[in-house]
Amino acid sequence: MSIKENLAEVRRHIPDHVELVVVSKTMPVEKLQEVYECGERKFGENKVQELVLKQPLLPSDIHWHLIGHLQSNKVKFIAPFVDMIHSVDSLKLLEEINRQAARNHRIIPCLLQFHIAEEETKFGLSEVEGKSLLAYLSHEYFPNVAIHGIMGMATFTTDIEQITREFRHLKQIFDSLKSEFFSNDPDFRHISMGMSDDFEIGIAEGATLVRIGTRIFGERQYQ
Ligand SMILES: *Cc1c(COP(=O)(O)O)cnc(C)c1O
Repeated sequence: MSIKENLAEVRRHIPDHVELVVVSKTMPVEKLQEVYECGERKFGENKVQELVLKQPLLPSDIHWHLIGHLQSNKVKFIAPFVDMIHSVDSLKLLEEINRQAARNHRIIPCLLQFHIAEEETKFGLSEVEGKSLLAYLSHEYFPNVAIHGIMGMATFTTDIEQITREFRHLKQIFDSLKSEFFSNDPDFRHISMGMSDDFEIGIAEGATLVRIGTRIFGERQYQ
């Protein structure tokens, strides 16, 4: 199937209240352009270096989402243009995003990444860590970051019940943070959960953003 057909098939499973982030990592700009011409405007990359190379080659109305682990020393390269950072997992990183956003006279929307999978390797905060970070933020105002919600990745497994359990846990974390810290903040509304193999489960469990690559572009070839 062509990219256009794949995209139409994916789109058929995404209700209007859920936003699609097209994950374009490893894909050449021609393929991103093809997806752009189908009307998509949100693209997600997981590496700063790749994002910075692609961004100037593509139309300026694309909304770029950084979805992968971000090191503090690289924030400055994306701060001028990035539309959302999904992977905030420490106070140090948030401080640096605030600093670089201020230098660019911007407010950068961020999601806090939570660790919901069984795997050790996946990044993210525990619920307790997330709450202490937010408690700190409620005293130490960061004017150039806006927390728009949370993100998480399920365990890499075919066990649908396990994925459902993990996404349900992420939704519970969202609800708890919403009532404790953001009850008067309509901007705190996003749950980024679901990739090619599990986005239907993510949507059923309350996702507002899904991040999909393979189901649109086909398998990635890593060099
Ligand atoms: C690569 C990636 C995705 C997309 O994965 P697919 O299985 O290709 O849809 C989503 N989220 C993150 C954080 C990723 O790194």
